[in-house]
Amino acid sequence: MNNLTRYDIKYLTGVGPKRAEILGKELDIRSFYDMLYNFPFRYIDRSTIHRIADLRGHDIPSVQLRGRFVTFNTQGEGARRRLIGLFSDGTGTLECVWFNRIKSIQQTYRTGVEYIIFGKPTPFNRTLSIAHPEVDAYQPNQQPAGMVGVYNLTEKLRNHGFSSRLMQKLAKNLLESDAVKQGHDPLPEAIIRHRGLMPVYEAVHNLHLPSSIAALQRAQYRMKYEELFFLELHILKNIKGLTKKLAGQVFSHVGSYFNDFYNHHLQFPLTGAQKRVIKEIRADMMSGRQMNRLLQGDVGSGKTIVAFFTALIAIANDAQACIMAPTEILATQHFEAISAMAEKVGVKVALLTGSTRKKQRDEIHAALLDGSLQLLIGTHALLEDVVQYRNLGLAIIDEQHRFGVAQRARLWKKNATPPHVLVMTATPIPRTLSMTVYGDLDVSIIDELPPGRKPVSTYLRYENDHEKVYQFIGQELRKGRQAYIVYPLIEENEKLDLRALEEGFEIVQEKFPHYKVSMVHGKMKPAEKDYQMQQFASHESHILVATTVIEVGVNVPNASVMVIENAERFGLSQLHQLRGRVGRGADQSYCILMSKHSLTKETRHRLEVMTTTNDGFVVAEEDMKLRGPGDMEGTQQSGIAFNLKVANLVTDGPIIEQARADAEAYLEHDPQLDSSEGRQLAAHIRLLFQHTVNWGLIS
Ligand code: ADP
Ligand code: MG
Repeated sequence: MNNLTRYDIKYLTGVGPKRAEILGKELDIRSFYDMLYNFPFRYIDRSTIHRIADLRGHDIPSVQLRGRFVTFNTQGEGARRRLIGLFSDGTGTLECVWFNRIKSIQQTYRTGVEYIIFGKPTPFNRTLSIAHPEVDAYQPNQQPAGMVGVYNLTEKLRNHGFSSRLMQKLAKNLLESDAVKQGHDPLPEAIIRHRGLMPVYEAVHNLHLPSSIAALQRAQYRMKYEELFFLELHILKNIKGLTKKLAGQVFSHVGSYFNDFYNHHLQFPLTGAQKRVIKEIRADMMSGRQMNRLLQGDVGSGKTIVAFFTALIAIANDAQACIMAPTEILATQHFEAISAMAEKVGVKVALLTGSTRKKQRDEIHAALLDGSLQLLIGTHALLEDVVQYRNLGLAIIDEQHRFGVAQRARLWKKNATPPHVLVMTATPIPRTLSMTVYGDLDVSIIDELPPGRKPVSTYLRYENDHEKVYQFIGQELRKGRQAYIVYPLIEENEKLDLRALEEGFEIVQEKFPHYKVSMVHGKMKPAEKDYQMQQFASHESHILVATTVIEVGVNVPNASVMVIENAERFGLSQLHQLRGRVGRGADQSYCILMSKHSLTKETRHRLEVMTTTNDGFVVAEEDMKLRGPGDMEGTQQSGIAFNLKVANLVTDGPIIEQARADAEAYLEHDPQLDSSEGRQLAAHIRLLFQHTVNWGLIS
């Protein structure tokens, strides 16, 4: 179908120069190709006619109704002017509302005539109303339509008379054109046969004009496969290959630091998963190629000790290591945990952050250059050009989603031979997604928590339950436990949020006069923040009232309660991170999500996911279903090559796996894509690049 890009859309029957211009401007549809691949984003079953009396609830889907207009009235002035048609089907009435093209609609539709109308009823002023319905004269002997596609349209397109129906008609014209009928299938024939895929023409036909639900499903499958095949082909050929080719330092032995610590100083046996990922990492660092590995592990799964062992291997092989964290608090905590361990085996560690004093900083720089400093822990400060090593062999980055590819690359450049890179993240993403999004990273997963961890019991409570929640906190405090109470704070709402936090702090102090309450928020001076945090960590204080500054970092195993105020304002992964602050000790822990009563369906779902699972992978998957992977921090820079139109990286895992396997097999026998078929595949990838908005981000 490649050659279709050469046909200007204005030559399509029914388009012409005027419509072509607006299609180009609004939807980037400029050629036959663009139009053909502009698929409906959903489908509606139009084989049934509903009754107004049966329409209930807040989220009614689009429906088809049969009846008559009783009256037409205009209301409002100027921009707010609208036309209202009262529509009755004998079981009830609702309002049809038009904001544009009022005059032409008044001239077209009549009262008393029977129509089929179609649209989404929404409750408004105690009646239902449908904005801009599709209206057709009712024809008694006409077969009701089956599945009908709904196309993406902009306000401007609607104002120019575009509707889903018009788009469908244009697609029909397009499908009947010789250019499309004679187009060749972009997928290799052998793959179509092997996977039993629907041929391309039949597939695009069914996507625009489904002949049945089953045919539509096969068509969708085929197009998803096609997109993912080319995406994987591109990633495997260009991105994955690139990093695989970089030479890396060879760390030939595990060394005595590792063995000494493992045999004499380890406080707990490693979990099977920890042992496995350490082996995977060790194999990478011995291979002679540069390691680029993503280490995924849920909050509390024990990534720090894995990082430490990894660093010990590098250090024993005459190299230095660094660990970079996204915040000062987290870097400091890593430093405290790791320097205590490093001391036992005589490894020199230092902490470098934005607030490190000049004198100390100079000492660190010098010790890095002469090699006496073996392990450096810190924040973004590690990336500065003045930070130079004698031989940096390993860079560990904690919390991947705050570091883009560009920052990773800056670390590579710190050394003549690029250091091995281990990226650690507690925001797990499904494996198929990470393979595709982080095409250049190998993935290791810690899928097991240390033994004895009890899942955190999570409850959803409402504003008027506050008294009971305070009573519950009191019970836990009397057992000697500690509690967190977290408030949201976002920049746009900073003043109000801070006030809510401070009010909360006062109320909590009043409720618990015999206990000490600390408060931390991001607007405090670092020293004050650290002091308050330290009070809580050392059990001087019993309750910590805080904003999300505690999201990463703090490790207080004695804390058993996490109350999250206005939980409806947090995203799923953030809630999960916060919850991860409790459940670190041996006691049963609790997370209480406080929310207002009236919630949207989506928000309620989000909170309910939290109460039903402790599994970070499930949470992450739900999160992406709700938000879409495009919203995930980090995916923007991570190298998704082109926009996917039908495939979904989150929900189409099984298809991704097939496409990836097939792309791998294909590259096996044609690695450069220079067979005659391979050249066509390469041309198709280039075409996809031209048709993407974000292609510049890949570089
Ligand atoms: P995260 O993966 O969230 O960074 P940490 O590395 O901070 O997790 O580990 C959380 C806690 O679990 C720490 O107190 C750590 O000492 C402890 N821990 C790690 N591994 C084990 C293990 N195998 N057995 C018992 N406790 C462990
Ligand atoms: Mg951690």
